[in-house]
Amino acid sequence: MADAKYGHDHQKLRAEWKRKVDAGGVHCAAELHGHPCVMPETIIHPGSKWALGHYDEHIDPEQVMPPAPEHFRCNAKAPSLWKQRALAPKEDYQWFT
Ligand SMILES: [Zn+2]
Repeated sequence: MADAKYGHDHQKLRAEWKRKVDAGGVHCAAELHGHPCVMPETIIHPGSKWALGHYDEHIDPEQVMPPAPEHFRCNAKAPSLWKQRALAPKEDYQWFT
């Protein structure tokens, strides 16, 4: 169900964001998505590793934020934070590959 909306749209969105990140000036969305940015600065430098993160709707379903780029390290850290909250793993973890 929820997984079906991933796939094509997600790829398209990622391609759009890639252009923006490559152009410079995009900031990490980790904090918007409910987990802290672990990098010293929020800017995502062109050419650095990033992932299209999305809001953890378990935190507040009323306040879902759109998917946006996060530093790779911030995005990779999110699942462990969710685990700490004893939430079931979600299948869309494949976003960061
Ligand atoms: Zn970050």
